[in-house]
Amino acid sequence: MELPEQRARVERKGFSMRRILSIAFALSVMVSLGLGPAAPAKPGGPQGRPTATGRGGAAASVDPLATRTAIRVLRHGGNAVDAAVAAAAVLGVVEPFSCGIGGGGFMLIGRGDRVATNDHRETAPAAYEPDTLIDPDTGEPIPFEEAVTSGLSVGVPGTVRGWDRVLERFGSMSLGSLLRPAIAIARQGFVVDDVFASQTRDNLERFRSFTSTRRLFLTNDGRVPRIGSVFRNRDLAHTYDLIAQQGADAFYQGKLARAIVRSVQAPPETRSSDLDVRPGLMTAQDLARYRAPFRAPTRVSYRGYDVFGMGPPSSGGSTVSEALNILEGFELGAGSRTRALHRYIEASSLAFADRNAYLGDSDFVDVPLEGLLSQEFAAERRELIGPEASPKPLPPGDPFPYDGDSEAVSASINTGGSTTHLTVSDAAGMVVSYTFTIEQIGGSGIAVPEYGFLLNNELTDFNFEPPHPNAPEGGKRPRSSMSPTIVTKDGKVVLALGSPGGSTIINTVLQVLLNRLDFGMTLPEAVAAPRLAPQNAYPILAEPAFLSSEVSDALESLGHSFEEVEELGTVAGIEFLSGGRVRAVAEPVRRGGGSAAVQHP
Ligand code: GLU
Repeated sequence: MELPEQRARVERKGFSMRRILSIAFALSVMVSLGLGPAAPAKPGGPQGRPTATGRGGAAASVDPLATRTAIRVLRHGGNAVDAAVAAAAVLGVVEPFSCGIGGGGFMLIGRGDRVATNDHRETAPAAYEPDTLIDPDTGEPIPFEEAVTSGLSVGVPGTVRGWDRVLERFGSMSLGSLLRPAIAIARQGFVVDDVFASQTRDNLERFRSFTSTRRLFLTNDGRVPRIGSVFRNRDLAHTYDLIAQQGADAFYQGKLARAIVRSVQAPPETRSSDLDVRPGLMTAQDLARYRAPFRAPTRVSYRGYDVFGMGPPSSGGSTVSEALNILEGFELGAGSRTRALHRYIEASSLAFADRNAYLGDSDFVDVPLEGLLSQEFAAERRELIGPEASPKPLPPGDPFPYDGDSEAVSASINTGGSTTHLTVSDAAGMVVSYTFTIEQIGGSGIAVPEYGFLLNNELTDFNFEPPHPNAPEGGKRPRSSMSPTIVTKDGKVVLALGSPGGSTIINTVLQVLLNRLDFGMTLPEAVAAPRLAPQNAYPILAEPAFLSSEVSDALESLGHSFEEVEELGTVAGIEFLSGGRVRAVAEPVRRGGGSAAVQHP
């Protein structure tokens, strides 16, 4: 069910209400963000506060400038959707390798147990065919690494249309005014931190291969900007300004749209580039036709809570939900932690087996969502969990008796990638859980010349080899793992969260939910706890702190095996405490530490 339309409420009070709010906000924002003559620092790390408790609205993200922007919008009378869009636009400036207007995302908007979801996932160009990602010369799938840096992997970006739609339906301020803080930061610049520098370093070869990207993100002599130097993106300021003045259509039609199409069809490679960059198929018509629909959320009950997630084309909501349904049949909190985690590994593996077999864009394929989320199917899957590790991979189950009819096929798992998550709430109880991305860190590596942003490589999330529910098709959205989540109890939101991390997003969200709802941790404890990512294969990726715990030895003795990975996910969430208090929670350490703030500390 969708929320009552906030915009209509504001507009009934007259055009002037929105206008006054917007102008007051735009005028004050430079001052309130501390945007004087000096560029603002982008602190991160231990000094960026990862937890904040208080009253009124709240915000959590990876970046202090984004979190601060959200709080400023709330203090100027904006609601959670306004604040989320303004903060997301800032993230597009300061986290340009993880997100931005060249990509897409999923936003959950909740008030009580009325939750709406907006799908602004990228689409494949109309000319895409099921075998587009098969190399005609070899008959084999295009090597993944080659697809990553190509025009072919660029999906039609959805972010700007998504921001426009959520504001139109739920916002109280204009997109134009909400882009102002980001424009100011892009123009004045921010201080390069170690995350920004290391992400640039990791992409150096790709960024050097495109004239536009080299000019945008590297120094004049083609190097990584120095940590502590000021990074400005005047081109992006100009692009945001264009959208602010002319609206979202300025992205999907006209000069900017033509520049995007040119960059995809003829990527601006430097002469010295050694890469074999395949051109893409996007046309002006693909951009003009892009839509960002509102969809029904997934919803399951879990131990008296209602858990809302993102349905297809994301596999996030269904996979988290199926695992929760399976786990609800066990007492997790009371018994041994080893047994609880063993069951988590098995339930997650079973849910991944089903995800890999059945999930795709439900506008194109029959996804047996009802069956996957049914208690009967969960009971069948739960039966397969014994006292010891089962051999992996486990085959998918058959949800169709509880749903419809189709055939199961197998799929590969994408564990890489990047993205960002932002959670915002307002004093009136509206909550936004928003994950958005350009897919890999640095997306396709192709920046749109003179417009200041990178294009996504989201179409690498398709299964390259047909037939598969997630095989490419014109207009189709590749399956995602993004899992923005809202949890309610007795009709009130108690928790909202999400994370980046490719397919491990599902594990991260699931594990934080279990830590919070079953193991009695506070949200900061639940987020900080070490993570593992069981995905129906061995070895299971796990963080060092988990591997050095006794429980990992105990799990190994049950037959599980692990491989160390430095970090899994980067959570940003909000929990609602008793007495009207609210707590925003970001990562204390992962990805340099995040930033949380409340409206009234
Ligand atoms: N492309 C990924 C997905 O939609 C998200 C990017 C990531 O975090 O890896 O699942």
